[in-house]
Amino acid sequence: MSEKKNYVYAFTVGNGKNKQLLGGKGANLCEMTQIGLRVPPGFVITTEACLAYLDQQDFPAGMMEQVQAHLTELEKITAKGFGSAENPLLVSVRSGSAISMPGMMDTILNLGLNSTTLRALIHQTGNERFGYDSYRRFIQLFGKVALGVPDEKFDHQLDEVKKIRGAMSDLDLTSADLEQVASRFLAVIQEHTGRAFPEDPHEQLNIAIRAVFNSWMGKRAVDYRREFKITKDVANGTAVNICTMVFGNMGNDSATGVAFTRNPATGENEFFGEYLVNAQGEDVVAGIRTPKPVAEMKNEMPEIFAQLVELRQRLETHYQEVQDFEFTIEKGILYCLQTRNGKMNAQSMVRTSVEMVQEGLINRERALLRIRPEDLEQLLFPRLDRRAMQVKPIAQGLPASPGAASGQIVFDADRAESQGKLGKKIILLREETKPEDIHGFFAAQGILTSRGGKTSHAAVVARGMGKPCVTGAMAIRVDVQLRKAFIGEQILSEGDLITIDGGSGEVYLGTAPLVEGEFTAELTTLLSWADEIATLQVMANADTPKDAHRARNYGAMGIGLCRTERMFNATDRLPLMVAMIMAENSVERQKYLDQLLPIQRQDFIEVFTVMAPYPVTVRLLDPPIHEFLPSENVLRDEIDNLRNLPATIKGLDQLTDTLRVIDPQLAESAHNSLGTFLAGLHHLCDHTVNQILQEKQNILRKVRETQEINPMLGHRGVRLGITYPEIYQMQIRAVLEATAECVKSGVAVNPEIMVPQVCTAQELDRVRKIVDQVRAEVESAYGFKLQFKFGTMIEVVRACMRANRLAEIAQFFSFGTNDLSQATFSFSREDAENKFLPFYNENGILRDNPFEVLDVNGVGRLMKIAIDGGRSTNPELKVGICGEQGGHPASIRFCQYVGLNYVSCSAPRVPVARLAAAHAKLKEAEFGL
Ligand code: PEP
Ligand code: MG
Repeated sequence: MSEKKNYVYAFTVGNGKNKQLLGGKGANLCEMTQIGLRVPPGFVITTEACLAYLDQQDFPAGMMEQVQAHLTELEKITAKGFGSAENPLLVSVRSGSAISMPGMMDTILNLGLNSTTLRALIHQTGNERFGYDSYRRFIQLFGKVALGVPDEKFDHQLDEVKKIRGAMSDLDLTSADLEQVASRFLAVIQEHTGRAFPEDPHEQLNIAIRAVFNSWMGKRAVDYRREFKITKDVANGTAVNICTMVFGNMGNDSATGVAFTRNPATGENEFFGEYLVNAQGEDVVAGIRTPKPVAEMKNEMPEIFAQLVELRQRLETHYQEVQDFEFTIEKGILYCLQTRNGKMNAQSMVRTSVEMVQEGLINRERALLRIRPEDLEQLLFPRLDRRAMQVKPIAQGLPASPGAASGQIVFDADRAESQGKLGKKIILLREETKPEDIHGFFAAQGILTSRGGKTSHAAVVARGMGKPCVTGAMAIRVDVQLRKAFIGEQILSEGDLITIDGGSGEVYLGTAPLVEGEFTAELTTLLSWADEIATLQVMANADTPKDAHRARNYGAMGIGLCRTERMFNATDRLPLMVAMIMAENSVERQKYLDQLLPIQRQDFIEVFTVMAPYPVTVRLLDPPIHEFLPSENVLRDEIDNLRNLPATIKGLDQLTDTLRVIDPQLAESAHNSLGTFLAGLHHLCDHTVNQILQEKQNILRKVRETQEINPMLGHRGVRLGITYPEIYQMQIRAVLEATAECVKSGVAVNPEIMVPQVCTAQELDRVRKIVDQVRAEVESAYGFKLQFKFGTMIEVVRACMRANRLAEIAQFFSFGTNDLSQATFSFSREDAENKFLPFYNENGILRDNPFEVLDVNGVGRLMKIAIDGGRSTNPELKVGICGEQGGHPASIRFCQYVGLNYVSCSAPRVPVARLAAAHAKLKEAEFGL
């Protein structure tokens, strides 16, 4: 007989490490219970049960019997009865998957209440108001979550009663008022569903469990998983946590709150949280009442505060991670309802990592691994430039998530999404946000709410996304119907520009000056630990001395790709470059190359000096030469205009005469001002125009001559260098003379000359011969030997297959995975990204964009062939990557796996790559394809 499957685990029994099975929340409830924290008793229904339910649209066999058995056990432990008319057991029903998805799925509180148990509850507590308050909350939540009744229907009834009673807030309602609210709510349910509210607690539980299971496939949850790429191997299905209710609204010795063991906005080691006396959890999270900072509890409830501080300590010591936890105080007894790792912005993650190591709480490896490398980009987020600020804020709220952002106001999430798709910069302004607003968060630059605290939904979600957020800007009154916001006399309409500063909580009218983020001392420390652990060297792609400087500041250990063609685009060089291309013969071409040589040499001296003593990899000219020439259309327009110039001048000559007929005074003034101008034009026309016209026509001829059907596969890279050897000669000379100059002035340089687009060993050999010849000349001129490396890019499929031969000539390989991915897929990057790639990604034909994320199964295999081939003939071969994917964390893990020596990426991604390189080393053993 097969063993009965276990779908339900008591908190005292479930494995606190098995988040896949019990969900993060469930596993934590088990773990918290088992380490001796006071958690209300309960049990977890597994994610497996959820998947089985979704599969067959019914509970798996035996599950409900197990639920019943645990419920009976709960009745025993609590000495209460489910549905009891004397001592009723009430429970909460909460969702929770392996990954925390804040607010994604719904929670039902007070389940088990009905007209009978309500009377018992009132009798027991002697608190009629509390009873009706709990009841009406339950009906609303159950109605919304389990029966699909829109929230507004309940809100409308509540507002009506408040209006009738003249009540400002919920707290002003008496128990009779709340009784009326509850009976109105029951009528709403009857009207909306055509059925009476289920009185039987078992039926309530059955419906609630189904609702939680179904919510896994609800739009919000599916959107969230898609946005954050939460795949089935990460989280599959939701568990259901059934937990004995405790009440924070039992009077003034009761309270509820949420807290972080450290300040999540700054990372500072200070107890951070908010609470409300005589309230239930959702009041805090939804921002319905503005809560008090937890520090105030020290005066209000000193004994409980001491317990709370102890709880904070225990949670951090146990989890070795900043915790975000919910608590409830019921008649003076503190319960911990849930805990999870605190979602924080990158700045706080970095600070807490460094401080927790310094406090001895965690080791350096853990400190590095707890931060997602890509999140470091947030640190370079813009802030308000206070020195340049002229204006005063129009409103002040709470600094809920740092960073500053400007954008046009929109008042709802759908509009934010549609405007965002049009490429507009948006600030989502709401009274408060709810989980269903999540798509608006994705589209917005920042979020502003007029209500709610620093732990409100808006704050938590924005912080997790690293978006600026200001909450509780109470001076703002939002009217969604009118699509207007009112601040005193001021009226803001949809589309008006505002700026929010999530670091200070200020709101400004219009756009405000922003400055880029910068490295903090903590980040410097953290990345120095990363560098110690990493074995992959992180270099930068940088083309100018300025870029090199920036890369160095970001911690790049050298330049892995200096695209020399970009050096030719500056205004002082381009005309020389064009003249060189236009040259009729090699003698004339040499004349212009001789003028370019000192300019290029000076660039190299500066770049080498900035980067000393790290290597600088100089890539010889790569693009087809027609890229330096103007486009055919522009030239044709210019030529047409030049040809029309004599006629235009003639027209101007006649202008004064024509004006004389219409307005003699105007004619006179035109004559005076046009006189000299026209004389100049005539002179130009007689002496210069023909010459310029001739030049333009020559360039047009050259453009047509050099035009290619498929330039990316055409006359470029080493093909160009071989057919115009004098160009590469000049560049190689510039590199080697710059090296010699640096050596002379005592700068430790490590240059590398790299050849692009190589596909045969013969190509590389020819360029090496040029290098050898120039080297001999420069060494003899300077009288000393030069140290440098010679290598090739690997960006052509044939080069991967012939790597063993290439490595006999090259001292290093650098994978140009931009071109190599194009070649492997036969996708042109521009066409793919504009036309079909998004469709491919959305429809699962390709999981990622191969131009951002290295395609390890295809391009990666070619790389492996090339590395093995290259090292078979040259075991000393140095190998790196310089395509865009070199800055992508998952791609960096693959680079570690295949034994690369370095990765090179754009300067702003260097911090990300440094942390990713440390992760790659630390998680090396786990890597699998
Ligand atoms: C590459 O192909 O990956 C590369 C770095 O070269 P480029 O992007 O300049 O073609
Ligand atoms: Mg390339």
